[in-house]
Amino acid sequence: MTASIGRVVVLLGAPGAGKGTQAQILSERLGLAHVATGDLFRAAVRDETPLGVTAKGYMDRGELVPDAVTIEMLLERLAQPDAQAGILLDGFPRNTAQAEVLRKALAEKGGRVDVAPYIEVPEADLVARLGGRWICRAAGHPYHLVGKPPIKEGICDVDGSELYQRSDDQPETVQARLRQQLGALDQVLGYYRDHGVLKTVDGTTGIVNVTADLLKAIVPAIGDRS
Ligand SMILES: [Zn+2]
Repeated sequence: MTASIGRVVVLLGAPGAGKGTQAQILSERLGLAHVATGDLFRAAVRDETPLGVTAKGYMDRGELVPDAVTIEMLLERLAQPDAQAGILLDGFPRNTAQAEVLRKALAEKGGRVDVAPYIEVPEADLVARLGGRWICRAAGHPYHLVGKPPIKEGICDVDGSELYQRSDDQPETVQARLRQQLGALDQVLGYYRDHGVLKTVDGTTGIVNVTADLLKAIVPAIGDRS
């Protein structure tokens, strides 16, 4: 493929920062293809592309898919018609090694990461958002202490059964997992700060305001394409 590389936006944020929601809104507003690496894997495996078959081999053996394979998938994705204006990356790179592989792969095709907006949310808020999930014993109806609390504390609105937290959703588990992920994220933030493309946005001001702030950070870096 010799198609030229469009704009590349790397959206960064911790789990619970609202990255997936913003990625969808932004990709639509900016005319960029939203590329979540999880979707990329699923599509390649489903379509049985050569890279999908390779990736599936690793996954079937319980191994991590090597960065080089992921990058090849990304480059294939970049060459597709809906990505000509560019892509918004969601969930990649996860560490500085991947960031460096991405930089080299894009550079070989005359591209670069144009901007890396970061949705900043304090750790305590993230734990509250991620750890607030409760479900009912009778039917698994989901609730969230912040986003969707039950009318009566601890009781399902629908069937009156008791609400409980899965071990995965308990605050200590959430915090431990988050700490690990934040460590890697910090390094990626440092990487893009060093490359002069990091733009930090306050992620605590509500979806609409966060979107507006992200657009202010991104548009000057890529030009307005909406
Ligand atoms: Zn229920």
